[in-house]
Amino acid sequence: MIKYEKVLDVSASYDVVVIGSGPAGICAAVAAARRGMKTAIIERYGILGGNLTIGCVGPILGSVAKGTMYDELSSLLLTEDGKTWTGRVHDMEKAKRVVLDFLLNAGVNIYLQTPVIDTFQEAGILTGVLVAQKEGLSVIEGKRFIDATGDGDIAVSAGAPWEFGRDGDRKLQPVTLMYIIENVDDSRAISCYGEDDPVKLGEEKFLDFTARCCSDGRLPENCYCVRLYPTTHPGERLVNTTQVNHINPLKQTEIVKAEAELRHQIDCITNFLRTYVPGYENCRIKTGASTLGVRESRRITGEYILDVEDLRAGRRFDDVIVHKANFVVDIHNPVGGGQEYGLAEVIKPYDIPYRCLIPLNVENLLLAGRCISGTHEAMASFRVMSICMAMGEAAGIAAALSITANVSPRQLNVESIQKELTAKGADLFS
Ligand SMILES: Cc1cc2nc3c(=O)[nH]c(=O)nc-3n(C[C@H](O)[C@H](O)[C@H](O)COP(=O)(O)OP(=O)(O)OC[C@H]3O[C@@H](n4cnc5c(N)ncnc54)[C@H](O)[C@@H]3O)c2cc1C
Repeated sequence: MIKYEKVLDVSASYDVVVIGSGPAGICAAVAAARRGMKTAIIERYGILGGNLTIGCVGPILGSVAKGTMYDELSSLLLTEDGKTWTGRVHDMEKAKRVVLDFLLNAGVNIYLQTPVIDTFQEAGILTGVLVAQKEGLSVIEGKRFIDATGDGDIAVSAGAPWEFGRDGDRKLQPVTLMYIIENVDDSRAISCYGEDDPVKLGEEKFLDFTARCCSDGRLPENCYCVRLYPTTHPGERLVNTTQVNHINPLKQTEIVKAEAELRHQIDCITNFLRTYVPGYENCRIKTGASTLGVRESRRITGEYILDVEDLRAGRRFDDVIVHKANFVVDIHNPVGGGQEYGLAEVIKPYDIPYRCLIPLNVENLLLAGRCISGTHEAMASFRVMSICMAMGEAAGIAAALSITANVSPRQLNVESIQKELTAKGADLFS
């Protein structure tokens, strides 16, 4: 067998290296750069934003206590013609520019079309990531790294333990391709916000009608929950309906299988809307996700594992870095349509402790976004984009402060992060 070896160049060195440019990564990079750190953000695709842009995901759901970067970024995304919309889907094309400017204005060095494919450590400390670019393979070094890849690629490569799926059968929430339709007649068209939306079509509850259509083949199997969200533009709806179950999004063959099925579902659902739903007769597809929508994959195990009981109790933690995180436990059924338990569970606003951002076994690394340390159920709440933005900001601040204090993120005094967040107006303790 041939043994392949290659000597790699170091192409750049930074204070803070953020991998992944979704809602969490963007806020992490901006927070670090604003604190004077030489910061890079590395994104595998050619567009920044993760699910905020190429995932075509909206609206930005959930909330956190006031004063975080969620307030700032969501207002940039949702202000149209001088009016700030809430609860509406942002403009995906505008978001691509907003996110780019947000990072550039903070002085972040941006890497596009640059997947991170491996990591390097010395004496158990993460020192660099291996990137694949047109120029070839090279190493980007950093003093601190933030894994905001959603899938926890960096933490896993560096040796952190991780969990996958729900207890028992390890099934994941289904994958989806989101898309936006235009030319909807708002004067007659309904919107539908999910399982518990009572909106009617004639005399019948809309989702009862769609369930019948799923049974008789007018809609794809398991796609009865036809969510139709208004956007910031008249005559548009974001359609959050396609879904394929039993897909492992970490496996190449399964990604392609899901993509093929979901693209066909988009045509079927659009034809259904044109045929059966008043106001949608002339709708057409405006844009859609450019990559598979993954609700759930790896959850990295950290110093604390946030549990659904913490959410039910609205638990406070001494090492809070995101306060009053609030969103239902939104588990899309891993083995069928709709929600896992019929309805999403309402919880009490809860804290996210700093320990959830610190992976076991790896030094110099922080977690941010949906891959932080939590259970399947808790993740189904904190995965929404408002909460991911707030935890990204906290991770960026922690990375910067740990460099200044010359301690690892694990050893950093959490009060220094809390002080920094509070000084900028974030509410952590009300
Ligand atoms: C179908 C669907 C519907 C959803 N609906 C909503 C909703 O209505 N409202 C809401 O608030 N949330 C919703 N969510 C959840 C939300 O979009 C995500 O949980 C959230 O975007 C996670 O943010 P993140 O920053 O952790 O990851 P992501 O947004 O996934 O961003 C991760 C980024 O990392 C990059 N990346 C990954 N691996 C690498 C690598 N190895 N090297 C370089 N770059 C890499 C990716 O390309 C991506 O840009 C939905 C999710 C899905 C899939």
